Amino acid sequence: MAQREAKDASRTRRPCPICGKPAIHRYRPFCSKRCADIDLARWLGGRYAIPATEDEPDFETEESDHPLREPRPS
Ligand SMILES: [Zn+2]
Repeated sequence: MAQREAKDASRTRRPCPICGKPAIHRYRPFCSKRCADIDLARWLGGRYAIPATEDEPDFETEESDHPLREPRPS
């Protein structure tokens, strides 16, 4: 019986990935809207745990004739 309860608990009640508190159904997998917002901010900030992003294009090259970096006097 105890094992079954533990299994169900682990399936339905995951801890909040932000603070580790028991998640609330309304804000799952988070424990509160605050933690959900924190996670969302991390996503928007691009600092969420996304591996393998080292191949993004490098715009900051050392080439002096780059048109985007050319100052445009008007
Ligand atoms: Zn939380």
